Amino acid sequence: MKIGCHLSASKGFLAMGKEAASIGANVFQFFTRNPRGGSAKAIDPKDVSDFLSFSAEHGISHLLAHAPYTLNPCSADPKIRGFAVNTFIDDLKRMEYVPGNMYNFHPGSHVKQGVERGIELIVETLNTVLTPDQSTTVLLETMSGKGSEVGSKFTELREIIDRTHLGDRLGVCLDTCHVYDAGYDIVGNLELVLEEFDKILGLNRLKAIHINDSKNPFASHKDRHELIGKGHLGLDALVRIINHPALRDLPFYLETPNDLAGYGEEIALLRSLQK
Ligand code: FE
Ligand code: FE
Ligand code: ZN
Repeated sequence: MKIGCHLSASKGFLAMGKEAASIGANVFQFFTRNPRGGSAKAIDPKDVSDFLSFSAEHGISHLLAHAPYTLNPCSADPKIRGFAVNTFIDDLKRMEYVPGNMYNFHPGSHVKQGVERGIELIVETLNTVLTPDQSTTVLLETMSGKGSEVGSKFTELREIIDRTHLGDRLGVCLDTCHVYDAGYDIVGNLELVLEEFDKILGLNRLKAIHINDSKNPFASHKDRHELIGKGHLGLDALVRIINHPALRDLPFYLETPNDLAGYGEEIALLRSLQK
């Protein structure tokens, strides 16, 4: 099973690899820079090469970088969109130090401009930042629909992918807390949700799962993560997700409100429950 969690990137790649290994993780997610924005630390090539040999030895793969929350490709403010473009380009350049991995971003909030205009601006951003020779797959995260978030409906993600010139460089990261909060009943009818995902987006585009419980009930459009088994999804539903034939081979990333030891316990728990 490929499972891990979100780790702090502040001490570099090798430190993340060691942390992952210490809690039984074989995949992990990290922020490319401060989640609230700002500039990124310079990449140390020695740290990267040490990390690459460490991860090869320890079977660590499927790195998932997460864009900062302040990256809003569909803001009405051209300055904020400019930050999104510059950050995206810089992050994708940095990702080539660890080639063949994934970069996840929130499609953005359209803030009163309407979903259609939001999608148009997201597509414009992607058409500016994606390059034919990049080795990184860029993932659109499924959102809860809090505020004016774009991407809480599979159809919106499909439209973004269809209208992006290099749409084949795009994939989807399904966040279990977000989709449930958005109104996809993965507790009551996982099969139906996956059928819909397949029909609209294609399960071949699903590249990663954020495995979180939710503090809020179905269709609440809230987006507050809860510890595994302690929220409205519950352990049984999450266990069905990690065992589903269409999902079980994907990398799973915990983003629960946890410390490192707590993540280790959740990883051990989920590993013990994948059949
Ligand atoms: Fe996210
Ligand atoms: Fe997430
Ligand atoms: Zn979230």
